[in-house]
Amino acid sequence: MVLKNTIFTFLLFVFCFASYGQGNLKYSIMKTESEWKRKLTTDQYKVLREKDTEPAYSGKLCTNKSKGMYVCAGCGNELFMSDTKYDSGCGWPSFYDANGNDKIVTQMDYSYDMIRTEIMCAKCGGHLGHVFDDGPAPTGQRYCVNSLSMNFIPESALNSGQ
Ligand SMILES: [Zn+2]
Repeated sequence: MVLKNTIFTFLLFVFCFASYGQGNLKYSIMKTESEWKRKLTTDQYKVLREKDTEPAYSGKLCTNKSKGMYVCAGCGNELFMSDTKYDSGCGWPSFYDANGNDKIVTQMDYSYDMIRTEIMCAKCGGHLGHVFDDGPAPTGQRYCVNSLSMNFIPESALNSGQ
């Protein structure tokens, strides 16, 4: 009986510890604010680390139609493939799907009297934009992303391994 209680207590401890870990999402790439400021431009820092939004139609990647990969400007995480980019007319680069399930994390955003789903880089936690459910087939999703949050790697550079 004593052993049973001990095992139960142990399992309870493990369960609580695991729950605690999930509630406090940790990213594989963690930097101090001054490190991020050194790595990013002022505008990139405002969007990625302070969740600012670039003005509509201002982003350099909004009209980009080249083939390649869109990576996180903070850490290089491969977020979106050009094949899933489409012209949503919203003023920001838009994609109907992420490059796999493990590249992006989401959380509810209640700012500005709106209920939105914020999207962030799963590696560094950088703010990317929001995802809406008014996108085209096959997903019906619209990942609305700041140009400042991403860098574009052309297909030619991807294939050459650079
Ligand atoms: Zn990142």
